[in-house]
Amino acid sequence: QDAIRIEGLSKTYDGGHRALRDIDLTVPAGSVFGLLGPNGAGKSTLINILAGLVIKTAGKVRIWGWDQDDNPRQSRASIGVMPQELNLDPFFTPRGALEVQAGLYGVPKSHRRSDEILEMVGLSDKAEAYARTLSGGMRRRLLLAKALVHHPQVLVLDEPTAGVDIELRQMLWENVRKLNRERGMTIILTTHYLEEAEEMCDEIAIINHGDLVARDSTTNLLGQL
Ligand code: ADP
Ligand code: ADP
Repeated sequence: QDAIRIEGLSKTYDGGHRALRDIDLTVPAGSVFGLLGPNGAGKSTLINILAGLVIKTAGKVRIWGWDQDDNPRQSRASIGVMPQELNLDPFFTPRGALEVQAGLYGVPKSHRRSDEILEMVGLSDKAEAYARTLSGGMRRRLLLAKALVHHPQVLVLDEPTAGVDIELRQMLWENVRKLNRERGMTIILTTHYLEEAEEMCDEIAIINHGDLVARDSTTNLLGQL
């Protein structure tokens, strides 16, 4: 089964900038998949379309079998996104933020696992601290936690380790591996660190100027460089 199936996906922003051009891409269920490319290539646009935050201009997107247009609710429920921007409501605590997120996704109270998720990302100590007092690293941990509250089958991380210190990078990598191996979660991450892609990803796609220019196993693709 494919976790993600994208056909003929294009995005032209208001003003005429073509950020994505006729992308065909499938991501197998259970894999760790890397989306690589230089700044401005279209990676965030692609991820934001998957997340339902940016409206595509053309094409088909299926998430966990659900067509984004025909089954918007189910497709949205199947995916969790850790964004790149560290935007958080400064007046929420991590516990509060997770409750709100769970409410937004309609997760029943009996299925909420805030403590477990906070523990996993290493935020238990800060569960009651206001977000405005959290460091950049803590905010990233909270954003990962928020992406997990509705138990998505597919987790997307947009540049999860850009500008983070070694300790946090190791923690994020460890979390990602655990989610993939122990829960079979499909992971998609964007990065411009080749080393990170090599370390983490089973398969890689490379985007440049809105075009998908390569897609192969990590060994085949990075072995050629
Ligand atoms: P990235 O690190 O992914 O390259 P950018 O710096 O390109 O991020 O973009 C940061 C944010 O600004 C994104 O949310 C993106 O959608 C938005 N953005 C980027 N370029 C433009 C633009 N030309 N006009 C409006 N918004 C933009
Ligand atoms: P990446 O994540 O690979 O850096 P983006 O998807 O952020 O690339 O951006 C792809 C292109 O689309 C860039 O040229 C960027 O400036 C442009 N872009 C991104 N967001 C917007 C936006 N909201 N409005 C207009 N142009 C945008």
